[in-house]
Amino acid sequence: MLMFKTLWAIAAFAAALGTSPAAAQAPAPKAVKVAPDTYMVQGVSALGSSANRNFISNAAFVVTPEGVLVVDALGSPVLARELLAEIRRITPAPVRYVVLTHYHADHIYGLQAFKDAGASVIAHKDGQIYMNSDTAALRLQASREELGPAVDASTRLVAADRWIDSRTTLQMGGLDFVLQPAGPAHTPEDLVVWVPQLKLLIAGDLVFRGRIPFVGQADSGRWITALDTLLAFDAAVIVPGHGPVSQSARADLELTRDYLVYLRQTMGEAARSMDPFEEAYARTDWSRFEKLPLFGAANRINAYNTYLLMEQAGK
Ligand SMILES: [Zn+2]
Repeated sequence: MLMFKTLWAIAAFAAALGTSPAAAQAPAPKAVKVAPDTYMVQGVSALGSSANRNFISNAAFVVTPEGVLVVDALGSPVLARELLAEIRRITPAPVRYVVLTHYHADHIYGLQAFKDAGASVIAHKDGQIYMNSDTAALRLQASREELGPAVDASTRLVAADRWIDSRTTLQMGGLDFVLQPAGPAHTPEDLVVWVPQLKLLIAGDLVFRGRIPFVGQADSGRWITALDTLLAFDAAVIVPGHGPVSQSARADLELTRDYLVYLRQTMGEAARSMDPFEEAYARTDWSRFEKLPLFGAANRINAYNTYLLMEQAGK
């Protein structure tokens, strides 16, 4: 279904351009200013593919006179090189740091290009669990086949130069970069970047903007705790790991949190009274959320996963 939709979207896009899908250009990182001295490139809403070169996640960068700090490295080395060219278009300052919000393929496969450019990579220490896992090795092997030639035999996993395990502040060019561990939630190694002078929060995959999130197998209880950590910052702008920038930071954080809280309340009650899922789902009042994008695609499965999670928790 998702694949069909994606193909349809590509075909519709190509038709709008008056070209065939085969002739459609691969999407490329294009830096857009989202706050003072702050830029992001926005990945496409799709699964990673050869055609999109795994450009399915965002990266952000903040420019100071002393250097540039990049958050997340994109999903292939070629994309990262294009991101570096975008940075060069804006400033001659060196890229000094790359901070990773988490060790997922679409955020890290570009790392080697930043290493080549002399940047220092910083991540939460629990990223080492992923680095050293069979999952990471198998994922990379599969990606070389699925995402080639953007990801190929020369693409490698890159360890951080510095692993941190508590709140750490970097200072550069008059700005503070507060690296705040926020996991385990989306992953054990979740890290967000807060720049107080800009009221800017770069939040990785903990925040979804104005839409229903895919909860998947995530522990929503921990996710709620992470969102409360983020709400403690007085953010005006949030750059998420996927999708557009948010200029209504607080409202977006609260929406995701309230949705997760509501899922846990309603499905938790149902699981405790051993009501069958179908019945509980049908009688739950979804009116606050049902107009949001992706409600149709995500809500039922989110509710079901939460029901199972709460059932497990009750045992
Ligand atoms: Zn992601």
